[in-house]
Amino acid sequence: MINRHEIDAAVRRLAQQINWDYKSKSPVLVAILKGAFVFMADLVRRLEMPLEVEFIGLSSYGENTQSCGKISVTLELGCDISGRDVIIVEDIIDTGLTTAFLLDYLGKKQPASVKVCALANKLSRRKTPLKIDYPGFNVPDRFLVGYGMDCNEQYRNLPDICFIEE
Ligand code: 5GP
Repeated sequence: MINRHEIDAAVRRLAQQINWDYKSKSPVLVAILKGAFVFMADLVRRLEMPLEVEFIGLSSYGENTQSCGKISVTLELGCDISGRDVIIVEDIIDTGLTTAFLLDYLGKKQPASVKVCALANKLSRRKTPLKIDYPGFNVPDRFLVGYGMDCNEQYRNLPDICFIEE
């Protein structure tokens, strides 16, 4: 669906925007495991300001392709984000419930600011309003794999973003 060259161009574009917005800041980038690990790795290598990298574990989908809507933290952040500028790094936003939960969860830790950077965005599936500060691609309602995204833990290593035939 989206090849590696298109992904690379989008990562460069998003990094350019973040470099501009955060040029005198030192943000903490928080990626949601596991899907965002590849995007995070590529994005941070294009960022030029001093930054920190953190990961958070959230339950989202189980072993099928439907979200249960119940979200919990399975791995805590490794640092104190109070007073810090935080950028949430997401592989894909579908209903928006996971991101909405995380915005609320991180907001309670009194960060200076929280923004959202998402590589893929299924706008048609939204169940809650959400502002994505750094959006990559708008994608149709297909189940995507590759570039960190899985189906039953498989396909994360594909360099392109592909969809699973229903
Ligand atoms: P949401 O809470 O926005 O419905 O879902 C967010 C999470 O669901 C994403 O971070 C991702 O882990 C998973 N997800 C949503 N859509 C897809 C998809 O098309 N493919 C894969 N592999 N995961 C998805």
